[in-house]
Amino acid sequence: MKGFEFGKKEDKMGIRASATRELVFTDCKIPKENILGKEGMGFIVAMKTFDQSRPGVAAQAVGIAQGALDLTIQYMKDRKQFGKSISSFQGLQFMLADMATEIEASRALVYACARMLDSGNSKVSKDSAMAKLFASDVAMKVTVDCVQLFGGYGYMRDYPIEKYMRDAKITQIYEGTNQIQRSIIANHLIKETAAK
Ligand SMILES: Cc1cc2nc3c(=O)[nH]c(=O)nc-3n(C[C@H](O)[C@H](O)[C@H](O)COP(=O)(O)OP(=O)(O)OC[C@H]3O[C@@H](n4cnc5c(N)ncnc54)[C@H](O)[C@@H]3O)c2cc1C
Repeated sequence: MKGFEFGKKEDKMGIRASATRELVFTDCKIPKENILGKEGMGFIVAMKTFDQSRPGVAAQAVGIAQGALDLTIQYMKDRKQFGKSISSFQGLQFMLADMATEIEASRALVYACARMLDSGNSKVSKDSAMAKLFASDVAMKVTVDCVQLFGGYGYMRDYPIEKYMRDAKITQIYEGTNQIQRSIIANHLIKETAAK
């Protein structure tokens, strides 16, 4: 449309393969037939879109966390310290067990939410927010721990693990920050209780 153009390409910490740009509207006129939903209902349309897109961000977070864990287990099997593979140290094994359990819990929440959406259930706002919140917090925690398990190499760009940590961060921010997800969940809980 006349009056619309892309602005600056943002220089981001992570998800650098996905371009993020400013959208600039200058006296841009949009024809009536392009309205999404009804006039004045834009906020509702946006919120309903988030109900569908937040489980997608949650799935992205599960993938980042699982990818980081897979790489880390392989690295730990190869890396020898004190004459042993570091995967034989019980303290580190406990970290692996916690990470795998949390990832599996995130995956279960994403699948539960996806099943609700697939069945046509329109009351998914709380579940979408829970899936996005939980999976993204798990992805952040897991990727930070994976960097730790790589030791000094974890901090180097030569190894791929730091990228997972940078990519995980955005999942706590976009499609509504995790503070906002907590507010949504709490508001639903309070409303549900008042309705009983
Ligand atoms: C790479 C990237 C891609 C993005 N893509 C999209 C996209 O495709 N579509 C889209 O709509 N948006 C997108 N966003 C925007 C993103 O959703 C917002 O940045 C995000 O919602 C936070 O809003 P804000 O940046 O204005 O932060 P602010 O609202 O200024 O928040 C700053 C801090 O205050 C906290 N905060 C704010 N209000 C409250 C409150 N009421 N209670 C408690 N804490 C609060 C926030 O959680 C945050 O920690 C993208 C952002 C980035 C970085």
